[in-house]
Amino acid sequence: MAFAACREAPTVLFFIERGGSSAPARVICAACAVRSHCLDYAMADRDLMGIWGGTNERERDRMRRATA
Ligand code: SF4
Repeated sequence: MAFAACREAPTVLFFIERGGSSAPARVICAACAVRSHCLDYAMADRDLMGIWGGTNERERDRMRRATA
């Protein structure tokens, strides 16, 4: 958490309402020093919603299926 680029960003950027854009969160994630750790964490928990490691829950589901 100490190294997360999102630590001071508004949470609403990462938990997007229907019709909203994930682009601002993805820009933050792209520059995050702990992105790979964050993505690993999110991949291990199927119930996590929102943007983690630069991915949304649908993308993580696809990644899990691709590696199953
Ligand atoms: S990769 Fe994870 S820790 Fe880093 S900015 Fe994105 S959501 Fe935050």
